[in-house]
Amino acid sequence: MKQDQYPFNFPSTASAILCINLENIKNNWISLSRFVHPAECAAVVKADAYGLGVQHVVPCLHAAGCNTFFIATPKEAEEVRALCPKGDIYVLDGLFLDTAPFLASLEAIPCLSSIEEVKEWSAHAGNTGRKLKSCLHIDSGLTRLGLDPRQMMYLLENNYLLNNLDIVLIMSHLATADEPLDPINKIQNNNFDRFRKYFPKAKASLAASDGMMIGKEFHHNLVRPGYALYGGQAVKEGQTPVKPVVSVYARVLQIREIPEGTSVGYACSWKAQRDTRIAVLAIGYADGLPRSSSATNTIKGGTVRIQESVCPIVGRVSMDLITVDITDCPKKIVRGDFAEIITLNKSLEEVGHEAGTIGYEILTRLGKRYERIYYEMKPQ
Ligand SMILES: *Cc1c(COP(=O)(O)O)cnc(C)c1O
Repeated sequence: MKQDQYPFNFPSTASAILCINLENIKNNWISLSRFVHPAECAAVVKADAYGLGVQHVVPCLHAAGCNTFFIATPKEAEEVRALCPKGDIYVLDGLFLDTAPFLASLEAIPCLSSIEEVKEWSAHAGNTGRKLKSCLHIDSGLTRLGLDPRQMMYLLENNYLLNNLDIVLIMSHLATADEPLDPINKIQNNNFDRFRKYFPKAKASLAASDGMMIGKEFHHNLVRPGYALYGGQAVKEGQTPVKPVVSVYARVLQIREIPEGTSVGYACSWKAQRDTRIAVLAIGYADGLPRSSSATNTIKGGTVRIQESVCPIVGRVSMDLITVDITDCPKKIVRGDFAEIITLNKSLEEVGHEAGTIGYEILTRLGKRYERIYYEMKPQ
């Protein structure tokens, strides 16, 4: 392990460590803002800022100049409002039944996703006697949330339904933006433009982390990256101009020398094919390392890096532990060393790929048990 990637003294009580580089979150937002200029850059901080902690992430983004936040749920709106008294907070899940007063009291803006939601939000505006800031979520082809073309036509024909609303944002979401050449991207952009033009005073937003990388024409007025802010590379080919934010290390608890033929772990699902040296590491699926990173003798699983060697996980990933084959590692590994699980040498995307999932899932499921180290600058 290169010394500059092992930046802290890890506490002796820590099993596994999650380091979060707030400086890079800030710089990533600034880079993306420049990249999409003159469009604006918001920040998606749903799911506790993708698991990294809104308490740390929101103030950090705010200090970088970010004033527009997207979250998913009413509870998340409340959390973010407490951290950011003035900014715009958009609720991506839309308006939950009977929550209009709650969202209005937070000055949060629901991404209205159905005629029912429009009516309920509008009725609350009517009751309070003031226009409420609103976002219309158009379904341009993802078929998840959003007003479909038929419902949009209905709204336009019955536009009295919008009388109580101050429509500040029109948004939609792309289905295939991680595949830049997929023609569905263009089709969705056209579907979006078709309705967007009826609301010339509102801002328009279509792109998330992946969409912002597939062309200026997808930027509109406001982009909504989440994953990229946290160092994720959302598009398969092509680099998003962001730096990694998270690193994860796990403690070596024990080194074992086992003879050929010894089975390792639950279900004895892996058997040593030679005399083998195994390192037992203090990380498991309870920490968010997927059980699907397990390996049998015929199915490859995940890998970790220890002392600059790439070492395969062998046997089952269990709740708190993994077992790793370090036989071919030329450097001496000892109890108390730390293995690299996610670092500059091992991206979120690779960890996801090895587990049959995506980096997003790895990031958002990093567990509660980590010793978390938030830092702005690396110590000297
Ligand atoms: C989660 C989400 C985003 C952010 O997506 P990333 O790929 O993390 O940038 C943007 N818009 C909507 C509607 C979302 O659900």
